Amino acid sequence: MDKKVEDETLEASLAPAIKTYLQNGPKFLIDGELVTAKAGGMIDVRNPATAQVVTKVPEARSEDIDAAVKSARKAFDEGPWSRMTAAERGKLVYKLGEIIERHAEEFAQLESLDNGKPISEARAADIPVSYNTFYYMAGWATKIAGSTPSPSVPIDVHSYTLREPVGVVGQIIPWNFPLMMAAWKLAPALTAGCTVVLKAAEDTPLSALRLAELIVEEADFPPGVINIVTGYGEGAGAPLAEHPLVDKVAFTGSTEVGKLIVKAATGNLKRVTLELGGKAPTIVFPDADLDRAIPGVTLGSFFAQGQVCVAATRIYAHKSVFDKLMDGVSEAAANIKVGPGLDPTSQMGPLVSADQLQRVSGYVDAGREEGANVLVGGEGLQDSDGYFLKPTILTNANSDMRVVREEIFGPVVVAQAFGDAELDQLAAEANNTEYGLAASVWTQNASVAHKMAKRIKAGTIWLNCHHVFDPSLPFGGYKQSGWGRENGPDALENYLETKAVTMAL
Ligand code: ADP
Repeated sequence: MDKKVEDETLEASLAPAIKTYLQNGPKFLIDGELVTAKAGGMIDVRNPATAQVVTKVPEARSEDIDAAVKSARKAFDEGPWSRMTAAERGKLVYKLGEIIERHAEEFAQLESLDNGKPISEARAADIPVSYNTFYYMAGWATKIAGSTPSPSVPIDVHSYTLREPVGVVGQIIPWNFPLMMAAWKLAPALTAGCTVVLKAAEDTPLSALRLAELIVEEADFPPGVINIVTGYGEGAGAPLAEHPLVDKVAFTGSTEVGKLIVKAATGNLKRVTLELGGKAPTIVFPDADLDRAIPGVTLGSFFAQGQVCVAATRIYAHKSVFDKLMDGVSEAAANIKVGPGLDPTSQMGPLVSADQLQRVSGYVDAGREEGANVLVGGEGLQDSDGYFLKPTILTNANSDMRVVREEIFGPVVVAQAFGDAELDQLAAEANNTEYGLAASVWTQNASVAHKMAKRIKAGTIWLNCHHVFDPSLPFGGYKQSGWGRENGPDALENYLETKAVTMAL
């Protein structure tokens, strides 16, 4: 079929509710109402598989952020939200999960259209993880509790601690898992009793703004508890991070912007949590089960077009298995079906934007210039205007190269062989990065696996697997990969203050 006709056919297959949503134009949720931007600015939303504009969304500027923050402030300070029982709050958080599950197919289509990811991936990963995050967190609402310490003071006292919501939270999310990132932010904050202003990424605002619409239609949140907007980083993200009425900012994105967020938060010393970049190593020992390691490393490297902060971007394999592993991984990579995300047979979609394609392609060029070999990939799709780059593996690399040191955030990975090194030496190489988000280790020797788990400085270690996520598993970074943890009970800590109460008896 002609490429253009094929693209049109795919967009024509979108669910009627999604077509209506795109035609009517997505809106912000501010103070319980669906509204447009005060200054009237709009952002083009493109399908990365075709580079065509599919709709426009309002562009928030500081006045929209201010309105959203004031509404969240009022809802926190005066509203029924803070007086609600924990059980009622938990039920509402659970309801957000039900809304997403009920509209799962529509959300999968939106994620694919907006971000480019294969719809099969959105159906299997993004959407279930999103609703399961709300289901998981909702249960915590009734389990948040203080303690009764025993102070050794000279007078008779009774002391206890209270866990209280931190207040108004600004949340800024990236474009790689748009709905899932919204869920990871909203679920713990609301469960803790905070009110929220969430800013979706300008490149992928559609699923968060659709959730906003469904919240108005199908949930009974008091006005101001959840506000959802989108806009550019400087125009909308920065005013949110700086706003004096915001008590806490939670950010996921690049380490570079994470540092700007920290600076912006100093005005009122708001609490900050950050989930930032990564450069995950995946280490294959000589005794690894290659039948599992080959598909595992391939998935680790190329899932979500490699636009994942925990992507397996640095492959280290023992010299005795290096060739066999890389033959297998490069064959699997070359067989990945690259195509429009909305095509159910596509196994990898385009990168999110023209800028991102240019950035990532720049790294392939830099790798070539620094002497790396392109084992497979390194080129786009013929006859397509979309932002495609085939899965790319670079070999003949060393630790001085930019492709080994810097986060690429695309389907480009670097493979290196190691000799009979001590575990400490190997761990030092794995840790030779400013990041510390994730790592995976492939071996059948349980002792080696757990020794490596102890030695690697990263928030997530996968043994004989990669990319296993669950709402119960804390997720976050060592070093410049961030502050704090998402998911698990740890995520609630990001949104709670502790108060010590002491009474002299
Ligand atoms: P990525 O590399 O994933 O695009 P960014 O860190 O650039 O990551 O963007 C992640 C999010 O941060 C987006 O929502 C973006 O709009 C926002 N952002 C970018 N710059 C700023 C800034 N200076 N202040 C606040 N938010 C920002």
